[in-house]
Amino acid sequence: MNVCKSCGMQIRNVSDFGTYPDGSVNTEYCFHCYEEGHFTDQDITIEEKIARNIALALKLGISRKKALRKAVDTLPGLARWRKPGKKLTS
Ligand SMILES: [Zn+2]
Repeated sequence: MNVCKSCGMQIRNVSDFGTYPDGSVNTEYCFHCYEEGHFTDQDITIEEKIARNIALALKLGISRKKALRKAVDTLPGLARWRKPGKKLTS
């Protein structure tokens, strides 16, 4: 199972992966996060990304509490957000 290393989304199809500028597939990230060689939300912070994930989850009918817990558990461990010395405060 592939998981996007930016948002934690499970990636089931090749078409869900992000792309490089030449159109080839970037298997690290999903197309929501990464397109044509750059992040779609380049300057976003992890806190903002968590808020965005929760907003998306709410649209999908997932409770805020559940979505928050999943995002806080998942995102700090993903490659995009793993920065030495940076701790998530919530
Ligand atoms: Zn993603």
